[in-house]
Amino acid sequence: MRTPEKLAPGVQRVELRSPTLPPATHTSAWILGGPEVIVVDPASPWDDEKQALDEALDGLAAAGRRVRAIFLTHHHGDHFAGAMHLRERLQVPICAHASTAALLTGFVTVDRTIAEDEIEALPAGGGAPAMELRALHTPGHAPGHLCWFDAGTRTLIAGDMIAGLGFIVIDPDDHGDMTQYLDSLRRLRALEPALLLPAHGPAPRDDAAPAKLDEYVTHRLGREAKVEAALQGAFAARGPATRGELLPIVYADVAPALYFVADRSLAAHLQRLVALGRARLDGDRYAPL
Ligand SMILES: [Zn+2]
Repeated sequence: MRTPEKLAPGVQRVELRSPTLPPATHTSAWILGGPEVIVVDPASPWDDEKQALDEALDGLAAAGRRVRAIFLTHHHGDHFAGAMHLRERLQVPICAHASTAALLTGFVTVDRTIAEDEIEALPAGGGAPAMELRALHTPGHAPGHLCWFDAGTRTLIAGDMIAGLGFIVIDPDDHGDMTQYLDSLRRLRALEPALLLPAHGPAPRDDAAPAKLDEYVTHRLGREAKVEAALQGAFAARGPATRGELLPIVYADVAPALYFVADRSLAAHLQRLVALGRARLDGDRYAPL
């Protein structure tokens, strides 16, 4: 029996082994609320892990607590893979953004779509405060990405906006968008969360949450500067460059084994630079503007 880990009053999680991107190996299923809870991202497709979450929720039920709904942060398999099992078992609705619902058609039945600014109010009880979880549409990593913010406790369920372990991939071929991602990060930063809870790995220290979001923006803009420098250097030496030529220059600090991931982020940076009018794409070659 896996006992849910308590991070704050009304905030518990069960870490489930999931088909996620190494070095991360698990996704946190968040259990939010007191007498009535929502479960965010029941992520594992594997029977032993589904059972671990089932047992944890049975423990809650034995204590008189009821699961009201399943919330999904976004459409990736390492976030939704256990959702249909839980829906059947508990007879509760799956809730997600309309864009997530569209991308999961045929895989997951989304019973209720959640839009920006919708509030899920959870009553106080059993040591948990009353919570008003406000949905924040935060596209960039995924078009239907939702975070949830409780203004009373300044708790932010961050999904894949940041990673406590590993990294966040922005992949244009999987609907990722770097400009949207940066805008979403800045938006979360402005909320000044006290508790920032990523889907993978440990949460940053309580007082470090805004700084962590700043660090993410700074990191991406630093990489963008490297992309622009590489574009200019390559252009001066040989003319327009392909993404494959730019990759080892821009990601000289990254192990080649991770280039397959870095290539996705490079594609996102280049797409953003073209959209901003700071680079030009001709066939498969990029030039600075
Ligand atoms: Zn994801």
